Amino acid sequence: MQLALEQALRSKAGGDVPFGACIVKDGEVIAVAENSELRCHDVTKHAEVNAIAKASELLGRDLSGCTIYSTVEPCTMCTGAILYANIGRIVVGATREDMPHIFRVRNIRFQHLAADYGHTPEVVYGVLTRDCVAAFDHHKRSWRVNTALIVSDDTSSVPVASALSSAS
Ligand SMILES: [Zn+2]
Repeated sequence: MQLALEQALRSKAGGDVPFGACIVKDGEVIAVAENSELRCHDVTKHAEVNAIAKASELLGRDLSGCTIYSTVEPCTMCTGAILYANIGRIVVGATREDMPHIFRVRNIRFQHLAADYGHTPEVVYGVLTRDCVAAFDHHKRSWRVNTALIVSDDTSSVPVASALSSAS
């Protein structure tokens, strides 16, 4: 996750939104990638999709046995790519609930798409959460982040209900 976070910070330094991803197989880093959506003027340039593209150059289209580290819970597009690539494990830094003033909480989540697709990778939450949230610090003013709602513990997330009620 530290490598994914470094990619998120690279994205931020380059003027993009700070998302990063890293793909590992058998203890070996296969790919790291940053979000480059704004700089590339291409909505498909999310960190996870970029990382999958790089990993596929090395391993082909089937990424079974790989783990993807994502600094923020993947969007539906990236979730689709993760499932199509047969990635077996996903490790998430922050969730949307950790940043309720930046991200809408969506009704369709990773688990819903995975169940529909019929491939259910292991999902681990809460890894370096505080750092993944902190990468968004520069968005406080323009994106109206309420710092009181930022997660304060690396291993737990702000529950949806309390985050939403606090935000209102
Ligand atoms: Zn995405």
